[in-house]
Amino acid sequence: MKGLAMLKIGEIGWIEKERPACGPRDAVVRPLALAPCTSDIHTVWEGAIGDRHNLILGHEALGIVDEVGSEVKDFKSGDRVIVPAITPDWETDAAQRGFPSQTGGPLGGWKFSNSKDGVFGEFFHVNLADYNLAHLPKGMSLEAGVMLPDMLSTGFAGAENANIKFGSTVAVLGIGPVGLSAIAGAKLRGAGRIFAVGTRPASVKVAKEYGATHIVNYKEGDTVEQIRNATNGEGVDAVIVAGGGYEVMMDAINVAKPGSVVSNINYFGSGMGDQDVIPLPRIGWGFGMADKNIMTGLCPGGRVRMERLAEVVMCGRMDPALMATHVFKGFDKLEEALLLMKEKPKDLIKPVVIVEE
Ligand code: NAD
Ligand code: ZN
Repeated sequence: MKGLAMLKIGEIGWIEKERPACGPRDAVVRPLALAPCTSDIHTVWEGAIGDRHNLILGHEALGIVDEVGSEVKDFKSGDRVIVPAITPDWETDAAQRGFPSQTGGPLGGWKFSNSKDGVFGEFFHVNLADYNLAHLPKGMSLEAGVMLPDMLSTGFAGAENANIKFGSTVAVLGIGPVGLSAIAGAKLRGAGRIFAVGTRPASVKVAKEYGATHIVNYKEGDTVEQIRNATNGEGVDAVIVAGGGYEVMMDAINVAKPGSVVSNINYFGSGMGDQDVIPLPRIGWGFGMADKNIMTGLCPGGRVRMERLAEVVMCGRMDPALMATHVFKGFDKLEEALLLMKEKPKDLIKPVVIVEE
């Protein structure tokens, strides 16, 4: 079978591999719709998870089940499914402690395009199919559905971890597809004012549709000053960090008011200086005593999570398809879509590849 792979750091290409084998509780799936993630870009061009050779990329997919193992109960060949980006080992102690994304070590629930081949192949393997697949609801568009495995799950986790109350004031730093999903999540959690910090025109438009009440251009002025000025100097109840380098955590802490949560879902590709650290503002953090709490999270995965996100969409609470700005048809277009994600033109939010209708 064919797959789009990371050949080594800085290089991608099409390779041939054996079709994966199916264990008794697993499934082999072929792609229906795929989307590249900013994390694929970090993986290949920044060597974010270390060097990988001939590793098939991708972790955002809808699929058609091709084969199931003998012990799989709820799925059969031909079923159309949502495949979560994170497919935990549900029997592990980390999962039982309530952190399934961290099974087998930090970020260990993230297998596709990390510890095993990803979904950018003609076939891919899904562990524990009954727990890590969800049926794609009839009537859900592929453009909407393919946002669930990672974008919606991660962005909503940012809002969930931020302890948003009805009427809370929220700032979302970074409005790519992850931050936009966080804005939609914050609105659904009952936020009052939502400050969307970003500049890309396509994103600004969707940010407003998803519930942003204020747009803050961080390139034309200081983020903290602008948000403080708009909140009588107080700052916000919750900050969701969904973009930027390590300096963004300074803004996040400085703009958070005492008793707030700074909820990070961003990937930090590098730290400051030789010690590779992420600095926090000592005074802005109340000398470490201002009850400004930092939460972090990897995308939640698994079946129930996907089913719940699908409910949100099917009940018309938000439309994730608005983020699918560039839609390609055909598996062969995957490389073009991935390179577009790397280039990030101003009119791009998320490229999507429809493999089969
Ligand atoms: P994106 O690049 O499309 O969006 C991030 C935006 O933030 C960019 O437009 C960038 O210009 C902007 N930005 C940079 N500095 C900023 C600043 N100081 N203030 C405000 N905005 C700033 O990326 P995305 O696809 O939305 O993903 C966002 C991040 O989330 C990436 O780092 C990605 O790797 C990570 N991610 C994490 C998870 C997870 O499980 N936690 C899952 C998926 C993606
Ligand atoms: Zn991702």
